Amino acid sequence: MMATDAPTLPASDNETNEADETFFRLKHIKFFLRNLDILPTVYTSADTSRITMAFFTLSGLDLLNSLSSVEHKQQIINWIYSHQVVPNEDESNLNECGFRGSSSNGNPFCPEKGNDQNIPFDSGHIAMTYCALLSLIILGDDLSRINRKGIISGLKHLQIKDGSFRPVPEGGENDMRFIYCAACICHILDDWSGMDRDLAISYIKTSLSYDGGIGQGPGLESHGGPTFCAVAALSLMGCLHETFTLHQLERLKRWCVMRQQVGFHGRPNKPDDTCYSYWIGATLKLLNIFELTNFTQNRLYMMDTQKEAIGGFAKWPNQSPGKLFSQMSSTLHLIMLNVREKVVAGYIEHR
Ligand SMILES: [Zn+2]
Repeated sequence: MMATDAPTLPASDNETNEADETFFRLKHIKFFLRNLDILPTVYTSADTSRITMAFFTLSGLDLLNSLSSVEHKQQIINWIYSHQVVPNEDESNLNECGFRGSSSNGNPFCPEKGNDQNIPFDSGHIAMTYCALLSLIILGDDLSRINRKGIISGLKHLQIKDGSFRPVPEGGENDMRFIYCAACICHILDDWSGMDRDLAISYIKTSLSYDGGIGQGPGLESHGGPTFCAVAALSLMGCLHETFTLHQLERLKRWCVMRQQVGFHGRPNKPDDTCYSYWIGATLKLLNIFELTNFTQNRLYMMDTQKEAIGGFAKWPNQSPGKLFSQMSSTLHLIMLNVREKVVAGYIEHR
């Protein structure tokens, strides 16, 4: 490791692994810490999703065993809670509860209980609720300020007739990604009343494609992202093996294993792309056949996408980390590098 980079980090943070000098651990820690405080200009358009950014940086730091380097944990916890849309007095907004992604709608800062003022189009977003809950858990919060009734009511309202979920009550696209978010939220709160599981399972079943993989919805092309979302959601529901026949599971496994070239790609005939080391790799873990991959080749591919100067990972070797991608892929890659192996049923379980 690059010991000269160490002074800002507690000694205990330097203990993990690595006799491996090709993994720039301290650079990655600095990358996450920097982005936790202030994001580069290219991230401006993602202002409405700041909770997601916080989740990627915090989970990256957690995986690198360096959360102790975050000095203002309580302020971050308060900031996250300030984005909770809670029921108002007459509970007329129950269907809109959850977490919003940022304060871009102009809500007053209210960390104690979130905000119950009616501002048009101000509602929870399913992915933000997912990221907020995980970030709070990572930061060691006990979720005592979570308005469970609001979140579960909001979630229930987002499921549509075909079993899939929309991200916000105002509408928007519906697909496998939001079934996964919904399953995670139910699992974390240990309350599945916000989700019609049978309906969701039926949506997943009908999204199984002719080639063995799973698409965003029925009749859509198999893809690494929704394949992970579907398998992880079923795992959280505890019914992966009941949902598919043995034959279907074997074909699904084959489709996933065939996605490895050096790293992994998300669809047949597409180039390898670092994020699929996570999406496909995590799916293979859930299917209990990760050992069938070539771990060394996958790792080499990801090492090639590291940014030695500033930390972080890119989509492809010799490419700059772009926008959201660097954050997301960095975190995802750290997971698959087994820096700290904590992929449990598709989400990061806090120790
Ligand atoms: Zn990708």
